[in-house]
Amino acid sequence: MDSGGGEVDARDRLGELSDLFASRRLVVVSNRLPYNPHRAREGICYIKGSGGLVTALDPILRLSNGLWIGWDGGTGASMKGKRVTISEPEGEESYQLRFVDLTEKEVGHYYYGFSNRTLWPIFHNFIGMSRFNSVHWKTYFKTNAYFAGTILEEANPSDIIWVHDYHLSLVPNFIRYQNPDLKPYFFLHTPFPPYDTFRVLPWCKPILEGLLGSEKIGFHVKGYADNFLDCVEKILNAPVDRESGVVELPGREVKVGSHPISIDYNAFRDTALTKQVMKRAQKHRSRIGDRVVILGVDRLDYTKGIKERLLAVERFLERYSRYRNRILFIQVAVPSRTRVEEYRVMKKEVDETIGRINGRFTGEGWPPIQYIYRLLSREELVAYYRIADIALITPGRDGMNLIAKEYVASQVDKQGVLILSEFAGAAEEQTEALLVNPYDIETVSETIYKAIKMPSGEKRARMEKMQDLLEERDIYYWVRDFFEEVS
Ligand code: ADP
Repeated sequence: MDSGGGEVDARDRLGELSDLFASRRLVVVSNRLPYNPHRAREGICYIKGSGGLVTALDPILRLSNGLWIGWDGGTGASMKGKRVTISEPEGEESYQLRFVDLTEKEVGHYYYGFSNRTLWPIFHNFIGMSRFNSVHWKTYFKTNAYFAGTILEEANPSDIIWVHDYHLSLVPNFIRYQNPDLKPYFFLHTPFPPYDTFRVLPWCKPILEGLLGSEKIGFHVKGYADNFLDCVEKILNAPVDRESGVVELPGREVKVGSHPISIDYNAFRDTALTKQVMKRAQKHRSRIGDRVVILGVDRLDYTKGIKERLLAVERFLERYSRYRNRILFIQVAVPSRTRVEEYRVMKKEVDETIGRINGRFTGEGWPPIQYIYRLLSREELVAYYRIADIALITPGRDGMNLIAKEYVASQVDKQGVLILSEFAGAAEEQTEALLVNPYDIETVSETIYKAIKMPSGEKRARMEKMQDLLEERDIYYWVRDFFEEVS
């Protein structure tokens, strides 16, 4: 997928945007860099991350001779302030990485502390999970200033600076304050909460001010952008124009828009059609037989609704006893933020719930739940997407949810049914999914039954509609759409 051919194809799909980035350098700033440095015998090697953002931005950075600024993820390779050139694969243009070096303490307070124990839960509307710690806030402030300082060292006014996500909310204003000729763009990859939630955050005001240093702020869906405009109006008393999505500041305007992130649709579809994936899928099928496969895939995070989903599967087995031993629920979870207390507590709860349900319903046949707790390769993941008769994607709150989109793209046989939480950003586009309230266990269990019973023609029609939309609005569309008015 990341072959030279793929990169060329990606440029085609960027269309006119290729010209913009060929003439102006793109400088991307995010907490983590797209490549992880590892110390190997022959020196330091760089392993490319597999996320959607990296896939989309890698070709743009190459054609723009660009720069990506971020933290190395503490892989121990000690890249202190270094700049390296990514020149692989051979024959492709290169781009540069600039490493922001963080101490153990900074990582603890800025990343695990303020970003993941304060902002993450608040932004997802989980107020009760949020921890307010002024030492964490101070380190977040200092670390954001440090990121901004690195940008100021590296960037010039003709660059397009694109800052990403909640870890770096103060960066836009730090940059603009010190050099008003630099005009950063910002994209938030999480939801933005309603005013009544956001105002609970003792540092809500500086966070809004930080973001408003941007030329433009992008959110996944209109609801998040509207929440942001509400907060700006009520907390900062700044005039906003909701119609055109603009915040009026003295001497300038900040654009606020909704741009749902997506996936590389063609890449997922093509992977689903490879021999390797088909073989894997067949192997799973011959093991599972004709049981109905229900699939959940998530980073192990309390926002993903895994516990409630398990309870819905349990309720389904109680209500529809003839389906015992005729369904298999596969839950794939990738370990996440295991240093954070709330995540350890949740993992224990998930482990125990699975054990309890399997203990209860394993008769002469199989346990109803298969639990896979690790990171899968792209091929392994897509093979599961292919065999899943039903994808049960039920986060309590999710900025977008790319799993839902990946499942749709990988459903080349068009016989799968997507059950999707109405609280995921993806629900706004995937309207042919069966939308559910993940906290309504009874209705989710009923919806599983409805999905099993759905006629083949209806499954195909729904899947085709979702695929058509996704094919058009892929990850490249997202970038084009975000930068549409930049010239
Ligand atoms: P989040 O950004 O909150 O983690 P998303 O649904 O937007 O949630 O994105 C999750 C990404 O992680 C997807 O691209 C998905 O393919 C990947 N992923 C999730 N679980 C696994 C897993 N067990 N193995 C490999 N990749 C995974």
